[in-house]
Amino acid sequence: MSATVNMGIPGAASTVVDRVAGKRVLLAEPRGYCAGVDRAVETVERALEKHGAPVYVRHEIVHNRYVVETLAKAGAVFVEKTDEVPEGALVVFSAHGVAPTVHVEAAERNLRTIDATCPLVTKVHNEAKRFARDDYDILLVGHEGHEEVVGTAGEAPDHVQVVDNPDAVDKVTVRDPNKVIWLSQTTLSVDETMETVRRLREKFPTLQDPPSDDICYATQNRQVAVKAMAPECDLVIVVGSTNSSNSVRLVEVALGAGAAASHLVDYAEDIDPTWLDGVTTVGVTSGASVPEVLVRGVLDRLAEYGFGTVQPVTTANETLVFALPREIRAARH
Ligand code: SF4
Repeated sequence: MSATVNMGIPGAASTVVDRVAGKRVLLAEPRGYCAGVDRAVETVERALEKHGAPVYVRHEIVHNRYVVETLAKAGAVFVEKTDEVPEGALVVFSAHGVAPTVHVEAAERNLRTIDATCPLVTKVHNEAKRFARDDYDILLVGHEGHEEVVGTAGEAPDHVQVVDNPDAVDKVTVRDPNKVIWLSQTTLSVDETMETVRRLREKFPTLQDPPSDDICYATQNRQVAVKAMAPECDLVIVVGSTNSSNSVRLVEVALGAGAAASHLVDYAEDIDPTWLDGVTTVGVTSGASVPEVLVRGVLDRLAEYGFGTVQPVTTANETLVFALPREIRAARH
């Protein structure tokens, strides 16, 4: 790899990107697995190790085809609904979280459960519960129907309204405009969310902010890294699945920040060689649910097309690790 581009990590001097002659790849840092995904995937692996197959998993444990297919080969059985799990079996709840009604359904079927909900999603659940207890109208900025949003809204269905995008603000009505708070899905575009909140605040000037950022550190860090490299890029390739909210957002952020083109790919083979026509600089990043092996595959493929020079663009260092769920903790290696 050639020169690293540091974008402001404390203790390191910022440098301007040196244009190198010929084709190159800018590789976003951080990218890929976040602490919540790492924990969720390891939870299923350890559950399989400890209890043997099958281990049922409600919804895709994380939104990535490769991860789901790999765990399925190892004995995980992915189901959409709790009643698809046989009575008394073991079920893991995905990183996106579930509504309280799902825990009730699981208890009714005598299921043994392991909750792999990301602690940063649980934090938003707790905020929803707390503000519902205080009888606030809660405006949950997020994508209607996304599993995480369904789970968070399910904590306080009588108090939560989902606001899907800035234009949806026009339809929002509340009981008391002086008792309104906004919360959000963890994997949204920071910029679009702030636009939605700006419009909500125009309508409800005393709108309260969440006690702390709901859009998680991993989503924010990956968007910052893409913004830093996108203006240099003729093309940004985001490794991730189409149902991965944070991965799809990275494509939008890349385009918004000046990349001439951007595409989402699950695998290296999804790269269409015509995308590379006339291209000098390709940016590469990956969503928070994407294992690094898939990024390596993309870099190898790009190298075959002459993009062998790879320059990291580093905007943050991530060190966060979450403890495994209690039921499986002893099994962590
Ligand atoms: S993207 Fe954020 S909220 Fe989602 S699993 Fe990762 S750390 Fe948790």
